[in-house]
Amino acid sequence: MRVEYFERTPLDAEFYDKYLKDRIPSKLIDMHLHFTKPEFCTNLQVDPNSWASQCSSKMEFEDYKYYANIFYPDTEFFVNALPSVTKGIDIVGNNGYIAELKAAGKAKYAHMLVNPEWTGDYTEKMFLEGNFDGYKPYPDYVSGKRGAEIGMFDFVNPDQYEILNKYNKSMVLHLPRAGRYPDDNNIKELITIREKYPNIKVIIAHCGRSYAMYFITEAARKLGSMFNDFYYDLAAVLNPEVLDFMMANVDNKRIMYGTDLPVFLWHGKRRWTYTEYFNLVREDFKFNKHEEGPEKEAGYTFFLYEQLKNILDVTDKYGGKKTAEDIFYNNAVRIVEG
Ligand SMILES: [Zn+2]
Repeated sequence: MRVEYFERTPLDAEFYDKYLKDRIPSKLIDMHLHFTKPEFCTNLQVDPNSWASQCSSKMEFEDYKYYANIFYPDTEFFVNALPSVTKGIDIVGNNGYIAELKAAGKAKYAHMLVNPEWTGDYTEKMFLEGNFDGYKPYPDYVSGKRGAEIGMFDFVNPDQYEILNKYNKSMVLHLPRAGRYPDDNNIKELITIREKYPNIKVIIAHCGRSYAMYFITEAARKLGSMFNDFYYDLAAVLNPEVLDFMMANVDNKRIMYGTDLPVFLWHGKRRWTYTEYFNLVREDFKFNKHEEGPEKEAGYTFFLYEQLKNILDVTDKYGGKKTAEDIFYNNAVRIVEG
């Protein structure tokens, strides 16, 4: 089900030609995006206070292909399929769908959602039958509250961690808690996961939801050298300072491109303070306060294009084309398959 507001305007084409066309690598893997079908979404419990939940949450693979051909007209694109993670989703059905995408060669990789109430045996059976590359666990799935105060051992149980550890697989981890990456309990649990399950490749989604500088600098300070033991996806991160901090402080082979589609199908960008971010959006969502007014909004390009430009500006500073090729493609292959 495609969203009706998705359109590439002449201004987007101009932005693309000017800043992206000659710089975007010839192939990319989107490590963070969600696929579902309407039949898995009949019992969703959507949080009305979350801005992201007002954006699209429904994307089938064919919808993605349509969007991606428009976003990336000159790039060969691949995906790591994640299921929808909204509370109430038909988790078995949705996991089955992304397993099918992988089996059919449509998705290069797939990470399944786990229910912490499942036994190890049941989880392992589903994991192996679906030929999954890892888990995409989610705190909301348990609590129904965004950034809730529940821990990493509440939304994945110890037997489930053991399975990933046994098969050396990855986990695209959306960190819980309002304090985000540097939350003391998150730091403690991440260290525990590293020590107890050293074979799990922990991919910290959205750089730990570090959309503003405070979160990433504090997390790096608290973790010390262990900050570099994790992998990172850049989904929804377009803060140039955060991107620069990542490139300067993390091994560039540990960073991967991601978009969090279908959330970001609109035109807009962000502004930041040290601790906060604000979405500036053209399209009419309930959360949109139209802060800059219609004249400025008419000049917005795709949020995704702003992100691409900011990533490419930073990779230019840290190794150029080679680094961009790693972040957009090579790192994902090495990390997921390695
Ligand atoms: Zn996501």
